[in-house]
Amino acid sequence: MQNIPVYDDVVAAARRIENYVYRTPVLTSRTADEMTGARLFFKCENYQRMGAFKFRGAFNALSARILNIPATIIMPHDAPAAKVDATKGYGGKVIFYDRYVNDREQIGRELSENQGLTLIPPYDHPHIIAGQGTAAKELFEEVGELDALFVCLGGGGLLSGSALAARYLSPGCKIYGVEPEAGNDAQQSFRQGKIIHIDTPKTIADGAQTQHIGQYTYEIIRKNIDDIFTVSDEELVETMRFYAERMKMIVEPTGCLSFAAVRQISQQLQGQNIGIIVSGGNVDIAHYCALLAR
Ligand SMILES: *Cc1c(COP(=O)(O)O)cnc(C)c1O
Repeated sequence: MQNIPVYDDVVAAARRIENYVYRTPVLTSRTADEMTGARLFFKCENYQRMGAFKFRGAFNALSARILNIPATIIMPHDAPAAKVDATKGYGGKVIFYDRYVNDREQIGRELSENQGLTLIPPYDHPHIIAGQGTAAKELFEEVGELDALFVCLGGGGLLSGSALAARYLSPGCKIYGVEPEAGNDAQQSFRQGKIIHIDTPKTIADGAQTQHIGQYTYEIIRKNIDDIFTVSDEELVETMRFYAERMKMIVEPTGCLSFAAVRQISQQLQGQNIGIIVSGGNVDIAHYCALLAR
């Protein structure tokens, strides 16, 4: 392992990527505030390039090397077409695997060995974590200190990067991770004090169908996170509907995790200033409509 990233790495990442990523808007909603009894600040990474925060970490990891190099992206065969198209649209070559059968990490290792490619994992890498932390850094710089920050969580890259930013820019801020109920491996890991592996969970939150968190992300989560909540697919759909109806925003199911948890525990958040990372908006419209029609 390399060194666990720290806030300075987030600052370095922000400088590296600033001309290439969007500074996404922070939205507020009176209806959401009235519904929850808190003051909410939504950091909208669904408006990021490629439609999700992932561009930040990936760009930081790549630009730490060189730009304009060919990239091969290993994606689940059932990834939403919107995600696949966004990836191809930015010049990536896509290789598919079956997330219920194949071992993504092994495919990556083999490709990198056979073709001499540099392997960049999706979350468990210091440059990725530092890059993901730039979204929360922007949020705190824009709205000041907060009482709590809610971040969705698959492998934990976004959560750990956000934690590095929060600990420095808003030391008193509680930091919460949110997972789908069916895939609560990070909650188990956090509570049992070791990385827990699970089978690929069945959930509509396809960005959080990870089987385990990483070594770097676990270390940061263990030391900095206050708790990890879970929400059901039904709560995700209700939150997706709220974003659509009340905020006129298309948010993918995984991106709904953070706000769904805020709604679930709003009794404990009365009068507080709350940050919510909206992680992405890549969802196939037909699927989106079918979910909302249920
Ligand atoms: C990848 C992804 C996540 C999970 O991020 P991790 O860094 O793996 O925890 C959450 N939301 C969206 C939209 C994603 O694409």
